[in-house]
Amino acid sequence: MSQTSAFGAPAADQPLISLAIERREPGPRDVSIEILYCGVCHSDLHTARGEWGQSEWPIVPGHEIAGRVSAVGAEVEGFAVGDLAGVGCLVDSCRTCASCAEDLEQYCEGGATQTYSGVEKETGRMTHGGYSNEIVVDQDFVLHISADVDLAATAPLLCAGITTYSPLRNWGAGPDTTVGVVGLGGLGHMAVKIAAAMGSKVTLFTTSPGKADDARTLGADEVVISTDPDAMAAAAQSLDLIVDTVAAPHDLGAFLNTLKRDGSLVLVGAPPEPHPSPQVFSLIMKRRSIAGSAIGGIAETQEMLDFCAEHGVTSDVEMISMDQINEAYDRMERGDVKFRFVIDMASMPAAVAS
Ligand code: NAP
Ligand code: ZN
Ligand code: ZN
Repeated sequence: MSQTSAFGAPAADQPLISLAIERREPGPRDVSIEILYCGVCHSDLHTARGEWGQSEWPIVPGHEIAGRVSAVGAEVEGFAVGDLAGVGCLVDSCRTCASCAEDLEQYCEGGATQTYSGVEKETGRMTHGGYSNEIVVDQDFVLHISADVDLAATAPLLCAGITTYSPLRNWGAGPDTTVGVVGLGGLGHMAVKIAAAMGSKVTLFTTSPGKADDARTLGADEVVISTDPDAMAAAAQSLDLIVDTVAAPHDLGAFLNTLKRDGSLVLVGAPPEPHPSPQVFSLIMKRRSIAGSAIGGIAETQEMLDFCAEHGVTSDVEMISMDQINEAYDRMERGDVKFRFVIDMASMPAAVAS
């Protein structure tokens, strides 16, 4: 074991503070990564505050990890010291179930190991995420990041990017499709950029009129203020697919009505409380579907990183220092971020004597 400096929540009702955490001794298949940047996902906030029913603290969040390889085990292939590398929401899975066999580790039937608040197979201890200086990860769960990209603006792709890319791919976004995106936060702004890069026509639904100009700059063809019933009615039956990224319960029926026949409303936002049930008639009469989607597998995450590098797609980030994280959580809750906070890990206070 070796210690590294981190920032985490000591309990659900307490702000994040400086902590020392332990990382396992790297094994032959492990890649050690010096973390340079970590994006701040709304899931970090849900988890740190226990909103999804977590039971063990401290929690060190962070699953949009970008950094530089600092050491590799003897059996590691494809990564060398000095390479740029990323880690997303998963650090392990069973590798033998039907989902793992199909490169869908996020749906691992044995339960994939989450980057934080999971249980590390090697040690039986809780996993700790990217709000830290170092992480040790099995090579199969480490992503390659091109040396040509803006690393800080690429970090959010490891969750916000893949969580929107995967449903866009699965439900066939591309030329001749119209895609709706609900919510212009971290996930939403990536959904707009990626859907536009895939060639779809994009409609952005927002509760924040002040984000309309930004949405168009990011690639939205249409912007609809979702609290305006007339604007929602005008968008009726216009979309093939909607990716809903909202982090709080809301009326799904209003969005279902904007789908064409056979359209799908795909939920990726994960509010702690349930949505009110929509009218089944808005499903039945147009053969519409409501679905959900979780992040993406490792192979698809690499495909997404390569797609984004090729199309010049990165996140619009606001860089923060580690000690600004609690203020950043409060601002994220208010929807006051354009469009992803990223922590500059050079600002990490030392919790470990050097
Ligand atoms: P975020 O940056 O906070 O964005 C959420 C957006 O939702 C806000 O910017 C806001 O957009 C909209 N919104 C409308 N009403 C809201 C309300 N009452 N409370 C909060 N947001 C509201 O969050 P994010 O990081 O994109 O994450 C969004 C959700 O996805 C979270 O629940 C997160 O846990 C979940 N998530 C799921 C997966 C998955 O695998 N399925 C992966 C990552 C994250 P407007 O101002 O434009 O209305
Ligand atoms: Zn996330
Ligand atoms: Zn599995």
